[in-house]
Amino acid sequence: MSFIDKIVSLINTVNRFEASVSSTKTTYLEIYEKNIQLEKEILERTNELEKANKTFVTLQNIWDMMNSDKPLSSVLTSIAEGLKGEFGYIHASILKLEIDKFENKQFLISRAISKSKFAQKLSQAFGINISFNKFQNKKDGYIDKALSNNEVVHTTQCVNFFSQILPSISLNTLESFLKTTNVESIIIVPILPNQEQKGILIVYSSRSEIKQNEINFLKLFAHQIEQAIVIAGLFEKVKKQAITDPLTELYNRRYFEESLYREIDRSRRQNQPFSIISIDLDYLKKINDKYGHQYGDLAISTISKVIKENARSVDIPSRFGGEEFNILLPQVDSVGAKLAAERIRVAIASEKINTIGQITASIGVVTFLENTDNPDELLELADQAMYKAKINGRNQVCVSKNKMHSNWQEIALKAFLDILASKKLPLPDALTKSLTDTLNKSLIEGKNTNETLYGVVDSIIQTYNYNHLNGETKQKVQTALHFAKFLELQKEEIDDLKIALLLYDIGNVMLPEEIFNKPKRLTYEEKLKMQKHPLIATKELLEPLGSKISEIMPIIENHHENWDGTGYPYKKSGKAIPITSQIILLVDAYYALINNRPYRNAYSKEEALKILKKDSNKKWDSKLVDKFLYMIENEQQ
Ligand code: GH3
Ligand code: MG
Repeated sequence: MSFIDKIVSLINTVNRFEASVSSTKTTYLEIYEKNIQLEKEILERTNELEKANKTFVTLQNIWDMMNSDKPLSSVLTSIAEGLKGEFGYIHASILKLEIDKFENKQFLISRAISKSKFAQKLSQAFGINISFNKFQNKKDGYIDKALSNNEVVHTTQCVNFFSQILPSISLNTLESFLKTTNVESIIIVPILPNQEQKGILIVYSSRSEIKQNEINFLKLFAHQIEQAIVIAGLFEKVKKQAITDPLTELYNRRYFEESLYREIDRSRRQNQPFSIISIDLDYLKKINDKYGHQYGDLAISTISKVIKENARSVDIPSRFGGEEFNILLPQVDSVGAKLAAERIRVAIASEKINTIGQITASIGVVTFLENTDNPDELLELADQAMYKAKINGRNQVCVSKNKMHSNWQEIALKAFLDILASKKLPLPDALTKSLTDTLNKSLIEGKNTNETLYGVVDSIIQTYNYNHLNGETKQKVQTALHFAKFLELQKEEIDDLKIALLLYDIGNVMLPEEIFNKPKRLTYEEKLKMQKHPLIATKELLEPLGSKISEIMPIIENHHENWDGTGYPYKKSGKAIPITSQIILLVDAYYALINNRPYRNAYSKEEALKILKKDSNKKWDSKLVDKFLYMIENEQQ
């Protein structure tokens, strides 16, 4: 090979090498570019994946919430929050469409909003609470279009959008407000879970453009909202089914009882009564037999309708099954409950039912804290009252008997046992023993409590005449009677005063011994107890004894009333107080003053009269005091 050939060959080799290097270089550049492209794609896919993942997690959270017992409003709020927080929107809100038939207008009511600066600014700028505000839905506006065509509407005409929902605000104001925000476009997604319910999801974006996959993604959220609304509706329905009776749609027994326990608590806390009305259809068996079961059912549903129509929204009208109805009337006393029951009775009797004609019902009424304070007795008492209405001839209202009284009677029985045991009453031993036995028997058996009580009081009064009284009381009674004669009262009045004086003392005897003989001044509670005694002695024990007692009662009841109205229990004053009561008060005070007391020594007669005179026109009538003074002074002379 010549030198030239060698050179040529070398050049060729160099060229080939060069060519190969340059082709490798092109490939390398291609690869490099491809790599960059790939990296970009990976980044995009990662972003998409991340977004999909976020969507998935958010949807999963929403799904979990929907299946928990969270109310719809909190599910919707977390959807709005999720959209704003995870997906970079400025604000999201969910609104419900409301149609005002009278005004023929459509409104949008906020159901949920995301917490955002935008929401705050909006509220502040226009002085509205966007959580509660009513927005307009302009015909053929953006929202109307989205709802009518069931499509996502995207607009960058934000001022326009706001002027449609807030027409009272000027365009200039809206424009300057929007300039303070980053909102570039608004996306409106329709929510149509069913025919009756319509709503929209509004999303405020900082980007002016929107991609198809973003639309798809928002549709997914809207679908989730629809699901949440449907589930919430079903939940409500199930909840309603669980507390209602299917035939009548009244509440069922379980719900009635739950409400009853709540009401008992409230009633005790506030010391306020509530009532139960118990209703039973009359002669349902006859209706079933004569016309067939379906007419029996018709009678039941007619009663139910009447009950529903007559119930206040806070009442709990319920069917316990069969033909047994109970209505709970919160915060209603026996007077109100009786009126309500009577209204229902009349309404039932005025229904004209196909084929059957008129139906009637028997109704019982019980009032908590009036008839009983024992919750376990309530329904039983209502039932008993209803049966009384049946027995008395049906188609009527009967009020429950008083169980609270029997409670008092038990106390009275025990009080009398104490009195007899203390031997404070000057009764023959044999009588004391036989009365004690009668009282004990009645207390143990819980039978004929009333009769026992009245019988015992009767025996005591018959035996306890003033021959048995101790020195002071005897003198007191004599002085009082003497004074009455001196005042020239009628003979009947003087007789009444005589019995009153005896009975009034029984009232005193019934006071606990520790109060009666207390060496110190009485405490407030003791005074209260003391002040009750004229009432205890008369009203509760003696009232049932007969007409004679009822004439005497006012004398005893008023014997602690003061002339100036500062006495007790009624705070009567002046001439409203029977003169006989004033005599007792005055004579009683006089004898209290001139005798030793556990906490002080006796006053002289002169001192005592001075003290009485001092209280003229306060405790007693000054004319009465003057006459009493005159009588005592003359007696002494
Ligand atoms: P009254 O209450 O006035 O004493 O007479 P009554 O015929 O209604 O007496 P009772 O309470 O003893 O009988 C009730 C009957 O009501 C017994 C039962 O056959 C019938 N009954 C109970 N539930 C239904 C019901 O849901 N539909 C129908 N058609 N009848 C019912
Ligand atoms: Mg019946």
